Amino acid sequence: MKGKITFTMIKPDATGKNLTGKILSKITEAGFTIRALKMTRLSKEQAEGFYAVHKDKPFFADLVKFITSGPVVAAILEKENAVESFRELIGATNPANAAEGTIRKLYASSVQENAIHGSDSDENAQIESNYFFSQLERF
Ligand code: GDP
Repeated sequence: MKGKITFTMIKPDATGKNLTGKILSKITEAGFTIRALKMTRLSKEQAEGFYAVHKDKPFFADLVKFITSGPVVAAILEKENAVESFRELIGATNPANAAEGTIRKLYASSVQENAIHGSDSDENAQIESNYFFSQLERF
């Protein structure tokens, strides 16, 4: 069965352009309910842990530098079939390939500075949610 929870993070390129409100509107207009929300900044160690799956990629050091360069807005979101539905809403990793109307098509500037993260599986949605939020911070 597909889960109802996904995790997202508005990235520093988008928070830096003051797009947090617009992006959260797109998310709630698409039928997601916000169950947890915080603006924070990742340490280098936290960023390396969050993106550990990419540690051998050539862009890893740049990615860690970028994601720690400013505030992120992390959230837990609820909707039926949350992971897949949210990946559709945000669009392809590279905004050049993202469908019209998707968040990345609208607001991303490059494959790295692509405005927003969305979990790629139910398992990762749980792991990533736990990375940012305690049980008391979920509603
Ligand atoms: P996502 O699940 O769509 O976010 O994509 P991935 O899990 O493949 O990559 C994680 C993040 O790493 C992306 O959202 C980008 O910010 C960054 N990234 C992915 N591919 C590249 C790349 O080829 N070059 C650079 N510089 N960054 C990348």
